[in-house]
Amino acid sequence: MPELPEVEIWREHLERWLVGRRIVDADVPDRLLRGGQSRRRVESVLRGATVGAVSRRGKFLTLELRGQRPGVLMHLGMTGSFERVPSGAGLPRFTRAVVGLARGERVAFVDVRRLGQFRVVGDTERRRLEALGVEPLSRELTASKLFELTRKSRRPIKVFLMDQHRVAGLGNIHAAEALFAAGIHPERSARSLTRDELRGLTRGIRRALRSELRRSRGKTLRYLQQGGDNTFLVYGHAGEPCPSCGTPIVKIVQGGRSSYYCPSCQAKRNPR
Ligand SMILES: [Zn+2]
Repeated sequence: MPELPEVEIWREHLERWLVGRRIVDADVPDRLLRGGQSRRRVESVLRGATVGAVSRRGKFLTLELRGQRPGVLMHLGMTGSFERVPSGAGLPRFTRAVVGLARGERVAFVDVRRLGQFRVVGDTERRRLEALGVEPLSRELTASKLFELTRKSRRPIKVFLMDQHRVAGLGNIHAAEALFAAGIHPERSARSLTRDELRGLTRGIRRALRSELRRSRGKTLRYLQQGGDNTFLVYGHAGEPCPSCGTPIVKIVQGGRSSYYCPSCQAKRNPR
């Protein structure tokens, strides 16, 4: 599943490919991706529009269109990716939406499992974006913000971090990596964390996302489309030695998702 750093990389690609370009044609035949909007509505918003910007909020991308047009919201779901298709070349398999540019060039949204989204920003979409929590790659994410947000939550910190209404777009992998970096057990209740621990966690979240952003920037598009390999410290490493102390990494299930942690570096008891 594309995580926040990959979504940001796609945003950068789309920005290079589309900003300032006029969309001469659009083809959005996939009903599931449109989420109840008519094909005509989505295509007509795109046709003739010029792309002003490509923005990201959590794991949602928006094509901002110039003039009075609404934007187009995109989500990669489990298997979404983009491809720039030169004039005369065939569209990739599992193409679900196509934006046609001048001189026959196209940008295809490819999604094998069709769990992605490609729809006009209407009231529903706007409400969904507004309901998202703090943006983990922005200055909004501070230890005091996390302190304030966690005070009323008895939920385990790992589950709390993955709630999109608290922190937008932080996925399973980076939540695990951030908790490891901060030495916090994933089952600790959110409100039990001290200011000091939350400072460490804030740093851990930023570091986990930024280091993957750096890694992904150096990779090819094909690599991004195929989902990459496991370069994480604890995620996916159950039974293997902790990179810091050698204790075997433990895997548990929380809120239906796998959590990985080092029982020695991330002790469960509250400090002091
Ligand atoms: Zn350890």
